[in-house]
Amino acid sequence: MSTVDKRALVVAEHKDGKITPATLEALECARILSGSLDNIHGIVLAGEAEKLAGQLGDYGVQVTGFSGKFLKNYTGEAFLEVILDCAKQEPYAWIILPHTSLGMDLGPALAAHLGAAFVPGAQEVRPEENLFIRPVFNGKFSREVRPLTETIVVGALPGSFAQAEKAQTPGKVGLVTVDKAPARTVYVGAAEGEGPDLGLAQAQVVICGGRGMGGEDNVPLLEETAALFPRSAVAGSRIACDMGWLPYKAQIGVTGQTVAPKFYMGCGVSGAFQHVVGMSGSQFVVAVNTDPQAPIFSIADYCIVEDVMEFLPAFVKAAREKE
Ligand SMILES: Cc1cc2nc3c(=O)[nH]c(=O)nc-3n(C[C@H](O)[C@H](O)[C@H](O)COP(=O)(O)OP(=O)(O)OC[C@H]3O[C@@H](n4cnc5c(N)ncnc54)[C@H](O)[C@@H]3O)c2cc1C
Repeated sequence: MSTVDKRALVVAEHKDGKITPATLEALECARILSGSLDNIHGIVLAGEAEKLAGQLGDYGVQVTGFSGKFLKNYTGEAFLEVILDCAKQEPYAWIILPHTSLGMDLGPALAAHLGAAFVPGAQEVRPEENLFIRPVFNGKFSREVRPLTETIVVGALPGSFAQAEKAQTPGKVGLVTVDKAPARTVYVGAAEGEGPDLGLAQAQVVICGGRGMGGEDNVPLLEETAALFPRSAVAGSRIACDMGWLPYKAQIGVTGQTVAPKFYMGCGVSGAFQHVVGMSGSQFVVAVNTDPQAPIFSIADYCIVEDVMEFLPAFVKAAREKE
C-alpha cells in the first residue's frame, strides 16, 4: 500500500458544542489503521463548524469543517451527501465513524454508495492483517472480519479504543460552506423524551436493572439500593425500559444515556455491547448475574454470581445495619 492508499477519513460527532469522546476513539482507531496522524482527515458537519473543527484540529489531524443551515440538525441525506463528496475526492482506505446512532445510520449508507465493505462495531483492528474484530451475539462471541474492498467503512465501537490525545502542533483546519438543501428530507424537529429527570448524567452511583430483575414490581429494590448512596440514580438496560419497568430516560447504552459514575452496579444485566458502550467509563463496576458466563463479568471489577432477588435484599439489609 502506498501512503495515499493508507489515508483515513474520520467523521466527527459532536454534542453540546463539543467533539464527543466516541469521536476521539474513532480518531485513535484511524491512527492505528493508517499508522500516523498525518494520514488522517477529520471532518465536522454542523450549522457553524468553525469552533468544532478547531477542537478536532487540536488532535493534530487535518480537518475540514462544513457549515450550513441544512447541517445544523442531523439528517442522513444532507450529511451523507457531504461525506460522499469528501470520500470521492481522495482514495481513502478507511472511512471511520463512531459506532453510535450517527455511525449506525450513516455507515451502511456510505458503504452502499461507495461499494465498500462496512464493519460495524469494530472493537479491535489489526491493519497488518487487514483484520477487524467485532462482538456478535450480544458480546458473547467475537467475529474476525477481513474485508475485500479497497475502501472499508468502519464503525469504531465506543469503549474499545483509547481516546486520541491532544497534539503539540494542531492540524490544518479548512472551512467550507454548504448551501445545498436535501431534496428528499425536511428536518421537522426533535423533542426530549418524557419522564422525570433521573439525574443520571450527574450521578456518582448508578444502580442499573436489566431483564434479570424479573419485572416492574422489583424496581423498588433498585431504588432502595440506590438510596443507600448519596448522588445516586436508578438506570435500566434497554430491555428493562422496553418492558416499561423504567422510563426511557433511564436507559443506558448506545441508544440511551452515557454515564461515567464512580460506581456502577448491574443487576440482572447481561452486558450486551450496546449497553456497555454507555457505561464503560464507570470507575468501579459490580455485576450481579446468575450466569457465570454473562459478558458483563468480563468488564466488572466484582463479579457476583447470584440471584439478584436474593442478593439485593441481603445487600440493603447489611448496609442498613452498618449505618
Ligand atoms: C440497535 C440496537 C441498539 C441497542 N441499544 C441498547 C442500549 O442503548 N442499551 C441497552 O441496554 N441495550 C441496547 N440494545 C439491546 C442489547 O442488545 C441487549 O438486548 C440488552 O442490553 C439486553 O438487556 P438485558 O441485559 O437487560 O437483558 P438480557 O440480555 O436478557 O440479560 C438478562 C441477564 O439477567 C441474568 N439474570 C436472569 N435472571 C437473573 C436473576 N434472577 N438474578 C441475576 N441475574 C439474572 C441473565 O443471566 C442475563 O445475563 C440495543 C440493541 C440494538 C440492536
